[in-house]
Amino acid sequence: MDVRVRGTAQDGGVPHLGCGCSRCARAREDPTAVRYPAALRVDAGESLLVDASMDIRHQIVGGVDGVVLTHAHLGHLPGLLQFGREVLDADRLPVYCTPELAEFVRTNQPFAALVADENVSLRPVDADASIELPEGEIRPFRVTHRDEFGTGTLGLELRGRRTLVYVPDIDAWDDRTVARIDAADVAVLDGTFWATDEIPRQADVPHPPVRAALDRLPLAGTDVYFTHLNHTNPLLDDGSAAYATLADAGAGVVDPGQRFDLG
Ligand SMILES: [Zn+2]
Ligand SMILES: [Zn+2]
Ligand SMILES: [Zn+2]
Repeated sequence: MDVRVRGTAQDGGVPHLGCGCSRCARAREDPTAVRYPAALRVDAGESLLVDASMDIRHQIVGGVDGVVLTHAHLGHLPGLLQFGREVLDADRLPVYCTPELAEFVRTNQPFAALVADENVSLRPVDADASIELPEGEIRPFRVTHRDEFGTGTLGLELRGRRTLVYVPDIDAWDDRTVARIDAADVAVLDGTFWATDEIPRQADVPHPPVRAALDRLPLAGTDVYFTHLNHTNPLLDDGSAAYATLADAGAGVVDPGQRFDLG
């Protein structure tokens, strides 16, 4: 099983709409500073895309055998529309998601048209179900994350000979999730914010700040990387003090395009 990072930013990406900060301004001038919303491509005899952001056309060329959706938020679901008749016109592409999100897609336009036109084939999966691939499997589990639509949020255990736990969005590092991370070889985790004071309305969008998480997460036995970085996060700059602190703690930030060979 081969896992490739296809996006490392929070749902809005970098540059962020409406933001004039130096990082966003630079990304508007310099394509190498652009960061797409968090996504993975998993190759294990079949290829699955994990999460479908609005930047999906820059993140994959096409040619996936299915899509796994962790949840319904902006950086994770809307790109599914690119598989519809206006663009790829896919033929019953398997889409794995919670039963509630499957129902949401089936009953809400414009997503419902993808089902009616048979561009996608919904495959509801729940906690501790398994998505079997020729050379590995994906086991979803539930995590707590703001749930305005009642559609739930999944974390994923990607299992080859080694295991990678993927949790791009979570409200807090609860004991159950920490135990899963501890048992994995690699973890790619919600690193939206470095600290608690990055945006004025941070309480409305709860994510565990990375600085505090360093004391909470099992960094000794698991290779921990952070993803889903907000445009305000100093971890986007490899010369920042935050980046050095993270490295000193024995963790890191995923690189766009980084590859994990799970065997
Ligand atoms: Zn997100
Ligand atoms: Zn910005
Ligand atoms: Zn979210």
